[in-house]
Amino acid sequence: MSYFKEHIEKMTGYIPGEQPRDGVYTKLNTNENPYPPSQHVLEAIRNSLNETLRLYPDPVAMAARLKIAEVLKTKPERVMAGNGSDDLLSIIVRSFAGPGDKIVFPYPSYMLYKTLSELQNGAACMIDFTEDYILPEDFIVKGAKVSFIANPNSPSGTMISPREISRLASEIDGVLVIDEAYADFSDENCLPLVERHDNVLLLRTLSKSYSLAGIRFGFCVAQESLIQGMMKVKDSYNVDRLGIVAAVAAMEDQKTMMEHVEKIIKTREYLTKALQGMGFFIYPSHANFVLARCMKGVSAQNLYNELKKRKILVRYFNIRRLDDCLRITIGTQEEIDLLIKNLKDLLIAGAGNIH
Ligand SMILES: *Cc1c(COP(=O)(O)O)cnc(C)c1O
Repeated sequence: MSYFKEHIEKMTGYIPGEQPRDGVYTKLNTNENPYPPSQHVLEAIRNSLNETLRLYPDPVAMAARLKIAEVLKTKPERVMAGNGSDDLLSIIVRSFAGPGDKIVFPYPSYMLYKTLSELQNGAACMIDFTEDYILPEDFIVKGAKVSFIANPNSPSGTMISPREISRLASEIDGVLVIDEAYADFSDENCLPLVERHDNVLLLRTLSKSYSLAGIRFGFCVAQESLIQGMMKVKDSYNVDRLGIVAAVAAMEDQKTMMEHVEKIIKTREYLTKALQGMGFFIYPSHANFVLARCMKGVSAQNLYNELKKRKILVRYFNIRRLDDCLRITIGTQEEIDLLIKNLKDLLIAGAGNIH
């Protein structure tokens, strides 16, 4: 006998990427930024380490929303702060979908969408991407309450054009969540769609491009009516004082973020060429990672295990369509050179071969 609700008992729960406690790994598995947060952010946090921490934070995080609105050229009423964008994803599912409601998301994509749907006992509609990561027409599901799209997508790094996403927003039932965790690494984004569509919820995070995964801060941009409703669903104090301070400072220092993004994009192109030279197929990436598909006769799982023995962590997903792939986060140039050297050695030694 279980004390849990039946649907909770049955589900497995989201499994995040490994976060080893011993810091000896070259960590290329969870898409963290290899460069440090802006000095301006660290200073702002240090300046906030004082007796005001005994006070609750602003429940609506207005300072952060004002700054975000200024930088994105929108209104603070159209911005909502979350304890990471994962918090906002959870708020969205709880706001718009109940038991049995259709929740749509592509496959393979960010697996948290499926977990959130299961938590809500929703009717998950998982729609396969085409082989070249285009959304098929059946992504438009009649009566859907929430549809998710990560753009750029993880783990493929591929991207759907804002024009195509705008068409989807007009045609789908319910809200369309555009999860732009990696938008800063891409040439295009869907921010303009918020003005045009009253069902679009755009998500951004400080975890990737701003090097602040350890500070949990994400935000949602949408029309006022959606933001107002979601405010009722969130925890009263869902963003803490240091998170708000960090967000304001991070948004103030666009320059540092953009310098790091430029370096990462350069390294991404460098890694892509090197991997292609070894025979991997690389999906076109618009993010801070690449998805590399192994050549015939080579096992991605073997390579993952061998790299791990050499203290290099990449991401391996032992699931349909990804079990012949490695997802590699773009590290510093030195980290990526180390990865390339080790991969070359492994391939030459036949350590990845399927026996
Ligand atoms: C990393 C990631 C997130 C989570 O971001 P947090 O703000 O750290 O919660 C959300 N969506 C996608 C697609 C991601 O890759």
